[in-house]
Amino acid sequence: MSQETVKGDAFENLLHEERQFPPSPEFAAAANLGEGIYAEASGDRAAFWAQQARELLTWSKDFGQALDWSEPPFAKWFVGGEVNAAYNALDRHVENGLGDRVAIHFEGEPGDSETITYAELTERVKRAANAFESLGVAKGDRVAVYLPMIPEAVVTMLACARIGAVHSVVFGGFSADALRSRIDDAEAKLVVTADGTFRRGKPSSLKPAVDEALSAPGHTVEHVVVVRRNGQDIAWTEGRDLHWSELLADASPEHTAVGHDAEHPLFILYTSGTTGKPKGILHTTGGFLTQTAFTHSAVFDLKPETDVYWCTADVGWVTGHSYVAYAPLVNGATQVMYEGTPDSPHQGRWWEIVQKYKVSILYTAPTAIRTFMKWGREIPDKYDLSSIRVLGTVGEPINPEAWMWYRDVIGGGAAPIVDTWWQTETGAMMIAPLPGVTATKPGSAQVPLPGIAVDVVDESGNSVPNGHGGFLVVREPWPSMLRTIWGDPERFKDTYWSRFEGMYFAGDGAKKDEDGDIWLLGRVDDVMNVSGHRLSTTEIESALVSHPWVAEAAVVGAADETTGQAVVAFVILRADAQTRSTDNADDASAELRAHVGKEIGPIAKPRHVLIVPELPKTRSGKIMRRLLKDVAEGRDPGDATTLADPSVMQQIAADLRK
Ligand code: ATP
Ligand code: MG
Repeated sequence: MSQETVKGDAFENLLHEERQFPPSPEFAAAANLGEGIYAEASGDRAAFWAQQARELLTWSKDFGQALDWSEPPFAKWFVGGEVNAAYNALDRHVENGLGDRVAIHFEGEPGDSETITYAELTERVKRAANAFESLGVAKGDRVAVYLPMIPEAVVTMLACARIGAVHSVVFGGFSADALRSRIDDAEAKLVVTADGTFRRGKPSSLKPAVDEALSAPGHTVEHVVVVRRNGQDIAWTEGRDLHWSELLADASPEHTAVGHDAEHPLFILYTSGTTGKPKGILHTTGGFLTQTAFTHSAVFDLKPETDVYWCTADVGWVTGHSYVAYAPLVNGATQVMYEGTPDSPHQGRWWEIVQKYKVSILYTAPTAIRTFMKWGREIPDKYDLSSIRVLGTVGEPINPEAWMWYRDVIGGGAAPIVDTWWQTETGAMMIAPLPGVTATKPGSAQVPLPGIAVDVVDESGNSVPNGHGGFLVVREPWPSMLRTIWGDPERFKDTYWSRFEGMYFAGDGAKKDEDGDIWLLGRVDDVMNVSGHRLSTTEIESALVSHPWVAEAAVVGAADETTGQAVVAFVILRADAQTRSTDNADDASAELRAHVGKEIGPIAKPRHVLIVPELPKTRSGKIMRRLLKDVAEGRDPGDATTLADPSVMQQIAADLRK
């Protein structure tokens, strides 16, 4: 059968989910937002966002037009307005008498901790702003940030925003080459780094990678500012390298923030690189701050006076920008920041932190949840997690079984789960339940946020009816949308705005269920075509994860002579089922194939189920299916530079040969 013969939808509707969890009456009664917010936002979207912008932010100069969309796809939001991100995140809270509120509870991996109030954080940012200016960093200049998860990362980002410099944070796990290419792409004038950090109880280096990145001539960097974190020996280039602590001690604690144009560039950030070469996404000030602050308050039902919020994302990813460095501080929240890995010094570390700080809102990724499932519930069960009242997830589709586990084991069977769909490009959440309004469904992000026009369309761009699948698009501009790909407006247009006329194409597949709720089905590039049936990776993976032995699964479509493509599954077993993989891998594999056949139907039955110890993931924790497809089709895996652990692929390829 030819691959071109396609039956039905862009995605076939496979899995059905009956479970629903409405908010408790107490939660709904106390929630920040009620049902009415959707109607309020749907009439005049631009006016809705203008109102949010004025309510949530303090503008140095008010704006006129809310949205200028006269040259699509290049949007301008809050035209003529002026706003300072750092002033909004810091000074204004101190001026409002909240200087003693804790901004950051920092928890270092070795067990050191530090509590930083809004007044203290404001002073540090003012000093850093003065220090950067003394090094000749001016408005519009780019600053590369290569730091671990320590408060200095947030201080650096806000100091840049304060003076109008554009930060480009590079994840600390990236190599010298990756760092250099990002420094060059942005033509950074300054690099802020640390000697190193701690990883699984051992010191791990950062500064040597900066030295290596800058060893070849031809770069634009004038200074490297170095935070002392792990005390390791480091090389020093006199004149170029400066100590963070000395620089800040010498700088004045006084610094007046001036407003920057609403469209002034705030940062450049590269996408995770799950599907290919990362893209340098540009975000600007007014729209980004408005939508991140609104969604952070709405989706987490944030009560800044009483909540303790913890987002586990690294500042190297967009989640660590929008929902660590900016929105929580703009909203005056108290947050936890943790430097290390979840298994150091033991597998209960996160839950110990939740217990210690009485974390009430936890925001993390499905990959972490599936890892905890693999380790077993006995570990979190040892801690008091009763402070938790809202649980968030982002980064990948969350399999319904992982969702249920999260709710039951971490959320005490009561905390609402908000599954938030968004991208580096969207800057802020786009699809998510509202915890006081939505009856949540395990595995679905469900509803476009108020003021956001998300849709699912067919090949020709027509909205699909409920019960059908297709391509996820955004029909109207939104405040925190990317403004361009840095230095490459043509690639910006081609990548996002050329597939469907007048719509933003996200690259993800999705379906609308019978109620009109949205389910994310995986990357469009990963869709499998088996005997003319288009199958979603997410749905087959979720069927596998619904088996009690399975913690995590990745499926790909591999070329097949008879069916065009065949489903090949890679599966990680839960700790209590792991003996099976060594004793009786064939039995486990047969059992899981049959399970998928039963859950979904014979068409989705994997040709092979391979039990593996690990899956290839990006450094942000996302499964890289294209590498698995390469091995499933007998090729050498392609570009794996964004892989967290390259040895995983060698192991899988060796297993497959057996
Ligand atoms: P690249 O674009 O370089 O391949 P990436 O898409 O992984 O990398 P990010 O911007 O970090 O980079 O990730 C956004 C993507 O993550 C979305 O397009 C989607 O595929 C996935 N995603 C994020 N949140 C969710 C969610 N709640 N449900 C399903 N998928 C999600
Ligand atoms: Mg992407």
